[in-house]
Amino acid sequence: MIIVAATQNKHKIEEISAITKLFGMEIISRKDAGVPDFEVEEDGETFEENSEKKARAIMEACGKITIADDSGLMVDALGGAPGVYSARYAGEDGNDAKNNVKLLAVLSDVPMEQRTAKFVSVITMVYPDGTKLVARGEVRGHIMFEEKGENGFGYDPLFVPEGFRKTFAELTSEEKNHISHRANALRELERLLQERNAVEAAE
Ligand code: IMP
Repeated sequence: MIIVAATQNKHKIEEISAITKLFGMEIISRKDAGVPDFEVEEDGETFEENSEKKARAIMEACGKITIADDSGLMVDALGGAPGVYSARYAGEDGNDAKNNVKLLAVLSDVPMEQRTAKFVSVITMVYPDGTKLVARGEVRGHIMFEEKGENGFGYDPLFVPEGFRKTFAELTSEEKNHISHRANALRELERLLQERNAVEAAE
């Protein structure tokens, strides 16, 4: 089963491909699916809205089954921020490094036991007939007081998942891909696909 990835983020594509390969899906890029380069505006208020918007726009441009990931970090002490604004936390022309600096500054007075957070990933698969599957995955953890590790991307150097003593950026990609929000969403997607295939087979 060949699926087009709506995302252009190469870290996300690598993670999604590594995980979906395990259950027989081949991910191809937008470019390889012949989709022209255009931005899909992420103006939704939820991960679900943005994820579907991205997947649907790319599916309509190529006519093939498409998946999109919309994801972010929700910090309890910040009422769930930065949430859907995770990529733009330090402003429209910010980047991962600036986002991490801002998060550390905002949380500077918050003690470790109150630095709980979760990563959320919502993966939407849209079919050419317009139907969709929506899978949400989460992973809980803590935000550290300084960045550690070189792997991964985004807020990975600040996030220690529950049950671990290392940040996502200190874990190997195999370790992260086993426990991450994205891995959990893709496992849920696999379950939804099996359900859909069983229904189609029975029809
Ligand atoms: P999106 O492209 O709108 O889904 O933005 C997702 C943003 O959330 C990224 O730019 C990162 O800042 C953050 N994010 C999502 N998933 C991860 C992850 O696995 N590690 C670190 N940061 C992440």
